[in-house]
Amino acid sequence: MSVVRAIRTGVVQVRRAQMESRGAGLARIAHMLLDEEWSEWLPIYAWVIEHEEGVIVVDTGETARVHEPGYHPRWHPFYRRATHFSVHPEEEIGPQLRGLGIAARDVRHVVLTHLHTDHAGGLRHFVGGKIWVSRGEYKRASGFGAKVEGYLPHRWPKWWTPEFLRFDARPFGPFAQSMPLTSSGDVVVIPTPGHTPDHVSVVVRGSPSYFLAGDTSYNQKLLLAGKVDGVSPKEEISRQTMRKIVALGKERPLVYLPSHDPEGAERLRNGETMQVPTGNL
Ligand SMILES: [Zn+2]
Repeated sequence: MSVVRAIRTGVVQVRRAQMESRGAGLARIAHMLLDEEWSEWLPIYAWVIEHEEGVIVVDTGETARVHEPGYHPRWHPFYRRATHFSVHPEEEIGPQLRGLGIAARDVRHVVLTHLHTDHAGGLRHFVGGKIWVSRGEYKRASGFGAKVEGYLPHRWPKWWTPEFLRFDARPFGPFAQSMPLTSSGDVVVIPTPGHTPDHVSVVVRGSPSYFLAGDTSYNQKLLLAGKVDGVSPKEEISRQTMRKIVALGKERPLVYLPSHDPEGAERLRNGETMQVPTGNL
């Protein structure tokens, strides 16, 4: 039996229109940058799976370096206008893992759902372990135009060489492809495109199963309401992924844990599964 733990690596505030898309095209982007309404302070979660085959970490959270002047590119409208961060050094994932008695060498796998800064900010704490990401995400986040898209590849540790996820035609519920991460097959990675085109999620199978969702939606309510975020480049792709997650939640008891849901840790604690209203989607 695996144990899943939530690690809150600080908090972030975004504009409402980032959580829930408004308008289309350029207006949609402008809303995300200029919406007068801010979200509440949202958690930045990473997850630890204590598994008999070794510890698995999903996402690495944010770093306290966000408070250093110039850590985020000053010219970037998203960082200038659309986010507030609060991360204390002791909230970074390294010190928190040590607090749980887990050393970096105990970590067998790290899976990155995607490479936005609040998911890749704690990479430096994982010297030595295998760090998995999808090939397309890595290419986009390190290539030409990456910084314009808000990625911070120059902040990744120099030693980092990613392991690329390899998905087979091995269906998992409504998802056509998956990749098992454990030999017993009880922890699987699945493609969940939308927030970014090669975004992935991790499922810990059991009763209930835990869906470590990254940013497939900002919270469970938005998922169930089918509300796409303001970031996804193609809203329809996000919507399809969200429908599949809801279908999975209909099929089996599922605790849905996106990275920024203020109610996520409580659902994890109580094993509270997704209740899909009849007629949904
Ligand atoms: Zn995020």
